[in-house]
Amino acid sequence: MDIVVQKFGGTSVGSIEKIRNVAQRLMRTQAQGKAVVAVVSAMAGKTDQLIQLAHEVTETPDRREYDALVSTGEQAAVALVSMAINSLGGKARSFLAYQIKILTDEAYSKARIVSIEAGKLMDELEKGSIAVVAGFQGVDEAGNITTLGRGGSDTSAVALAAALGAEVCEIFTDVDGVYTADPNICPAAHKLEKISYDEMLEMASLGAKVLHTRSVEIAKKYRVPVHVRTSFSEEEGTMVKLEDEEMEKYIVTAVNYNRNEAKLTIAGVPDVPGVAAKIFEPIAEANINVDMIIQNASSDGMADLSFTVAQTDAKQALKILQEIATTLNAASVSVDNDIAKVSIVGVGMRSHYGVAAKFFSTLAQEGINIMMISTSEIKISCVIQEKYTELAVRVLHEAFNLSSE
Ligand code: ASP
Ligand code: MG
Repeated sequence: MDIVVQKFGGTSVGSIEKIRNVAQRLMRTQAQGKAVVAVVSAMAGKTDQLIQLAHEVTETPDRREYDALVSTGEQAAVALVSMAINSLGGKARSFLAYQIKILTDEAYSKARIVSIEAGKLMDELEKGSIAVVAGFQGVDEAGNITTLGRGGSDTSAVALAAALGAEVCEIFTDVDGVYTADPNICPAAHKLEKISYDEMLEMASLGAKVLHTRSVEIAKKYRVPVHVRTSFSEEEGTMVKLEDEEMEKYIVTAVNYNRNEAKLTIAGVPDVPGVAAKIFEPIAEANINVDMIIQNASSDGMADLSFTVAQTDAKQALKILQEIATTLNAASVSVDNDIAKVSIVGVGMRSHYGVAAKFFSTLAQEGINIMMISTSEIKISCVIQEKYTELAVRVLHEAFNLSSE
């Protein structure tokens, strides 16, 4: 049996008409001789609506009941998709996580998949049915309903593909693939035919919202090829797959940017052991994720420390920093929201020299000042003034030969 998993996001099932289109597409795939498993998200806006309802009841909803509530959007969606298939003369059956079962840990709202029992779905496929599975949800050992975190249906889909030994997991979404840069700000950007798991993981952590990060981790671990494509046409999208030799020929695969971070600085703190820990411990306790960090020591035994956080966390981080500043006798504390992070990603960087130098000189030629730098084996990121974002993306895209194809 050649199994294909097809996942449809909220916008792809956003209306009854779209649900019918999804049903037809699933049936077309089946008609090509494939055994088809659909994974479906809640209709567009539904999950947000449910979350809002919960918060209208109480500011701190019980976590078990919260997951019981927000998982219902998917229940409605799988039933509707199955009905649509059946009404069009096909054969389909919907499944919730507990019916299969998709076992997770007990971490409500951010549960991780532990195992999936493939038997029931296999039986269904053998009978010639399309199995329509609710994304985003799971069930814990005790039978409680759990959810995987916002955007978690991608992870449901890839995990199912891995458990079923599917030949591909197709993610149908409202973009037609992964691009060399955001085409809205970089007209020379083009769609990538393929990208490696590692590059996709870097891009997800840089804020690209195409795929849920954990879905890429699972895809990498179990070698599931993931095809990101649009649900609104037959056009091929981008294949996320194991790295091949050709991928390494290109130094850089994509240019990314993120305008949603803020830079905080605490200046004039003693340059002695333990200070950084004193600053970052309370930040961590507040569940604030820190991205880049730099420290500048001066000759007088003092240091300035800057770091970036999500803009939504900046206010809280600033408050914490102000409190620490008093105890450390720091000279000042400040926050800068007008920054952006621009990054280049590419597996080819592992084997090429001079990539960082080229990145910096490209920005320098445009008079763009670099405030912070961080790197990984396959990524370089810089923080710059926000007003230069578009310019930086365009010149980097050009400099690394992404515009020529
Ligand atoms: N419906 C859920 C959400 O909006 C899961 C998903 O769409 O992937 O987060
Ligand atoms: Mg999504």
